[in-house]
Amino acid sequence: MALHKSMLEEFGLGTVWVRRGAASASADAPVAVPAQSIDSTAIALDRKAAAVAAPIAVEETHAPVARKPDPADTLTALDAALSAAQATQAKAPQAPSAKPASMEPPVFDDLPWLDDAPPQALAVPETVDDTAAGIATLDWDTLAARVSVCERCRLCERRTNSVFGVGDRDADWMLIGEAPGENEDKLGEPFVGQAGKLLDSMLHAVALSREDNVFIANVIKCRPPGNRNPEPDEVARCEPYLKRQVELVKPKLIVALGRFAAQSLLKTEASIASLRGRVHDYQGVPVIVTYHPAYLLRSLPDKAKAWADLCLAQATYRKSLQAADGA
Ligand code: URA
Repeated sequence: MALHKSMLEEFGLGTVWVRRGAASASADAPVAVPAQSIDSTAIALDRKAAAVAAPIAVEETHAPVARKPDPADTLTALDAALSAAQATQAKAPQAPSAKPASMEPPVFDDLPWLDDAPPQALAVPETVDDTAAGIATLDWDTLAARVSVCERCRLCERRTNSVFGVGDRDADWMLIGEAPGENEDKLGEPFVGQAGKLLDSMLHAVALSREDNVFIANVIKCRPPGNRNPEPDEVARCEPYLKRQVELVKPKLIVALGRFAAQSLLKTEASIASLRGRVHDYQGVPVIVTYHPAYLLRSLPDKAKAWADLCLAQATYRKSLQAADGA
């Protein structure tokens, strides 16, 4: 499949056939995404940003048009990830529910990441004096070693592994998520669950990968038990590690994945809706805010907005390259 087509399909802008959850009556029947479910503002932004950003030919209209599914080209990586996640969920015992089963948002990962939820008292961390810890001057290997044995907060008590981050240490792009989930805690690598698969598809859509010119890290390096949100003091104690990682990577662009990461980095309680679509700043590095991939797994229409965010990220990256060239 041509790259441009797969990109559109990854983000729900092309024809996307979605398998409904196992509880749905038409479990195996593919369903076309209705045209009105795609946010038209996002698509307008997408087109504008794509015109600035990517030298990528877009041959087809973005409006989804129902057609017969062709398994060879419509079962995209994203569909596969969704299907796998839904199959896993179908195997799990279902609690009785008053709502019709098809209205329940499927649970794809083990942390809540409610990007559309109102802000809670977790966004603005306290400040911790780290002069004595000396994190701000550590080199890569010492920093990684320090994180692996870190006991700066109580999250160390129940972790299997801390999750330092993965990717190219000289990357131009840095992606920052919230905190490790169960799979990440087991494997010591960020974004390895269903959300991680979607993240990899998103990166692929803009010709990036976690091995090449991208470094992926989290605000919090250890898994919060019981799927709870990280506490402000945990964020504050972990923050120097991320700060140092950003100093060492020296990215040209940061993409904040989800409300929590955005609020923590930007020290704000503003909603993700108000933070998207603009360029922010973290330690002199431009920051683009987008939805968390775990949220996108549950919110198909917002994938169009995430695509617009990635287009803005590309445009911002190009500008920052040009600025560096001109300097
Ligand atoms: N979600 C995150 O924010 N980070 C991970 O590493 C995994 C899931």
